[in-house]
Amino acid sequence: MLCAQRLGSLAAGLAALRPGRAARGSLGAGIQARRVSTSWSPVGAAFNVKPQGRRLDLFRERRGLFGVPELSAPEGFYIAQEEALRKTELLVERACSTPPGPQTVLIFDELSDALCRVADLADFVKIAHPEPAFREAAEETCRSIGTMVEKLNTNVELYQSLQKLLSDKKLVDSLDVETRRVAELFMFDFEISGIHLDEEKRKRAVDLNVKILDLSSKFLMGTNFPNKIEKHLLPDHIRHNFVRDGDLVVVDGLHAEAPNDLVREAAYRIFLYPNASQLKYLEELLSNRDLLAKLVGYSTFSHRALQGTIAQKPETVMQFLEKLSDKLCERTIKDFEMMRQMKMKLNPQNSELMPWDPPYYSGVIRAESCRDELRVAVVHESEGLLGYIYCDFFQRADKPHQDCHFTIRGGRLKEDGDYQLPVVVLMLNLPHSSRNSPTLLTPGMMENLFHEMGHAMHSMLGRTRYQHVTGTRCPTDFAEVPSILMEYFSNDYRVVNQFARHYQTGQPLPKNMVSRLCESKKVCAAADMQLQVFYATLDQIYHGEHPLRKPTTDILKETQEKFYGLPYVPNTAWQLRFSHLVGYGAKYYSYLMSRAVASMVWKECFLQDPFNRAAGERYRREMLAHGGGKEPMLMVQGMLQKCPSIDDFVNALVSDLDLDFETFLMDSK
Ligand SMILES: [Zn+2]
Repeated sequence: MLCAQRLGSLAAGLAALRPGRAARGSLGAGIQARRVSTSWSPVGAAFNVKPQGRRLDLFRERRGLFGVPELSAPEGFYIAQEEALRKTELLVERACSTPPGPQTVLIFDELSDALCRVADLADFVKIAHPEPAFREAAEETCRSIGTMVEKLNTNVELYQSLQKLLSDKKLVDSLDVETRRVAELFMFDFEISGIHLDEEKRKRAVDLNVKILDLSSKFLMGTNFPNKIEKHLLPDHIRHNFVRDGDLVVVDGLHAEAPNDLVREAAYRIFLYPNASQLKYLEELLSNRDLLAKLVGYSTFSHRALQGTIAQKPETVMQFLEKLSDKLCERTIKDFEMMRQMKMKLNPQNSELMPWDPPYYSGVIRAESCRDELRVAVVHESEGLLGYIYCDFFQRADKPHQDCHFTIRGGRLKEDGDYQLPVVVLMLNLPHSSRNSPTLLTPGMMENLFHEMGHAMHSMLGRTRYQHVTGTRCPTDFAEVPSILMEYFSNDYRVVNQFARHYQTGQPLPKNMVSRLCESKKVCAAADMQLQVFYATLDQIYHGEHPLRKPTTDILKETQEKFYGLPYVPNTAWQLRFSHLVGYGAKYYSYLMSRAVASMVWKECFLQDPFNRAAGERYRREMLAHGGGKEPMLMVQGMLQKCPSIDDFVNALVSDLDLDFETFLMDSK
């Protein structure tokens, strides 16, 4: 019943999914956070806490993290956790003794809030805290709260209190739409845990869950594990590109950005060389997920995972991916041809395009199409006191290299009528200012800032009654809509011109420079998207019908040939490095789906005038305000004022790839 969608960390995962991210950014360009001297609203002040020398340090606050006094020392986690567990017990008792009605849902939400508050904070601290003692304490808290959640999700008495409400048609009809949806979501969490089964099957479901958790963490660990080979097996002249361990060479990644073709090839072949135990973990993980899904009443794991999303069922996802792939095909071939030409230019002896080439050559081509230097300045704006955004923007040793958004506390209407204000953290990795220059952002960093701000504003502008569906706690394929929409804003001259200034001269950016920069992002973008389609399809097939028709590696080969186009390299098994199979399980397509929705919203509502107040208000009313409290497709319909078809989704994505030739003409003068 609880915490099924703790999207703080999931949203973070999605950020990593964004194609082409790493290739951008090093254009010697920058944006500065310009400080204005007008009086700051509380949210604005939170942004502005980085005057010289004293950076915002969430963790040095001895008054306690996020104002929770128990968390001023690692041991505090124990106290906060015990407190949450005690409160949980009281609330469980109350839920079971209260006659069924809207009150039931309220108690469930409070219950979920009591646990999520501590678990969400711990989730964040265990990743981001610089002191190991805090990280360990947080890790321990996550575990014990997790166990509690498992227990509650199989607590029959608790389940029955909700069941009594939902099986009484008259009572259900008397609930408002949001309360009813939240009640159903809680019920859904019970059901996917197997609560409705007889005792023997329920026990089996619990066992399967434990096994799946264990296999997931083993598989995840294996996705990063380096492969080693004897150094004499590598040509002399490329050995220095890799770390050495005595007589062994350690290959810990794909070295996708290495200019030397042979280095990339060696890394690809060695890092992706199949590992028998990793293969076994993957197969067992997939078949156990399949067993669990069947046990609780679904035909495949995909069917179970997709309930409540925009797509709703695997057939829709596959249609979406196949249509998208068909439409991309011609463009992808052109992209590959462009990369092949570039490879021939740089390396005439060996110009066949191989799977280890696209990230590098598309980066080279992009950089060529956009060689300007940019220096611009950013002003942070804010709305009134809707919640708190803690901004942890600057690099620090030990900090994860991931830009992300964490929910620390969800918004909800409290029993006393007050609104519990949402609290989130935005974590970026911006460089520090130096004596000679302020912090200058590359265009890529600026886009990330806008992206993460999109998540933050989803949390701030959400006004859900229940924290279970606060802000970003919504279906996965909707979760990235607000953040990707902000990327469209960050790529629009009319928007950028509002804040971007040369950091020394104060000059605004020339329009064609911004346009050219935006256009350069479309270079080779079809091939990038095609790769995402291939990954998403693979994820669907692995979580589709079981037993699988073929070994996972054969499926990879087949899918790569059909949905990507570059040849499969024998004796490699990329799927063993596909860590998102664990976290997304059948929902890897979500990023593409969210982008399609964001693209439609941008074109229909903001392209003509990005500052259109009425469109902005509609966006807040129809989408952001509901968090996950409304069915995602209804939110999309409310915003677009029509019901988009799969073709509309596909066309929105594909039309974004069209180059605006005017930009290049304007430039070649
Ligand atoms: Zn995101």
